[in-house]
Amino acid sequence: MCKVIAVSNQKGGVGKTVSCVNLGIGLAQEGKKVLLIDGDPQGSLTISLGYEEPDEMEYSLATLMMNIVNDEKMNIEKTILHHKEGVDLIPANIELSAIEVSLVNAMSRELILRSMVEKLRDFYDFIIIDCPPALGMLTVNAMTAANTVIVPIQCEFYALDGLTQLIYTIELIQKSLNPDLTIEGVVFTMYDARTNLSLQVVENVKSYLNQNIYKTIIPRNVRLAEAPSHGLPINLYDPRSSGAESYDLLAEEVIENGGEN
Ligand code: ADP
Ligand code: MG
Repeated sequence: MCKVIAVSNQKGGVGKTVSCVNLGIGLAQEGKKVLLIDGDPQGSLTISLGYEEPDEMEYSLATLMMNIVNDEKMNIEKTILHHKEGVDLIPANIELSAIEVSLVNAMSRELILRSMVEKLRDFYDFIIIDCPPALGMLTVNAMTAANTVIVPIQCEFYALDGLTQLIYTIELIQKSLNPDLTIEGVVFTMYDARTNLSLQVVENVKSYLNQNIYKTIIPRNVRLAEAPSHGLPINLYDPRSSGAESYDLLAEEVIENGGEN
């Protein structure tokens, strides 16, 4: 059974994309079949995996979503990329923002990504969708297509800001579009063991959120910050770094939590 995970937090820079890349590769290294979907028009996930010019790509998530809207056969062979580390990728680029705008008037506009994912899920154990830093139509589509949501939370002072809104959005989607959607868990990122602040954020979020929280905490690690600009996942860039180790542990935890729920 395939588990579809949306990685979401409307704040930018909290570690969504880094988590998608390295969790995805971690799962693939555990023998799982993984599809990563770049759901952000900025294409950061695509770039992080070494595809330097997403805007030059002719086929992307926008292509497949338009195939669904137009009720055409999906251009799967041309769109899905096979990364050498064993994950598949549906890349994204600026065309996705045009799609988001055109969806505003489309019928069943919240269900486009779900229809796409339904056609692909039999081929994978995990499908991970990297959401953009907004709670707009693309995030709604991702959460409607997903079984579950992972929320990365950066260990900094403003971590709790916006969390209520995120949880509220998830609840709205549960009530209307996707009753079975669950919150898989919160993962703390950029934890700095030298500061009390990081510890405080973790404690605050724990007392505020009645949610599953991953035991694995991702440390602030300069190698994780450097890796995307080299187009490399952390296991290739610096496999012995604390960042690589922590994402391996996170992948194990995600597998322990089981398949589709
Ligand atoms: P988001 O997708 O939520 O906008 P990113 O995953 O792109 O966030 O991360 C934001 C920035 O922080 C990037 O430059 C990334 O390289 C860096 N970063 C992410 N996680 C870590 C970490 N654990 N330690 C250090 N830098 C990190
Ligand atoms: Mg991102």
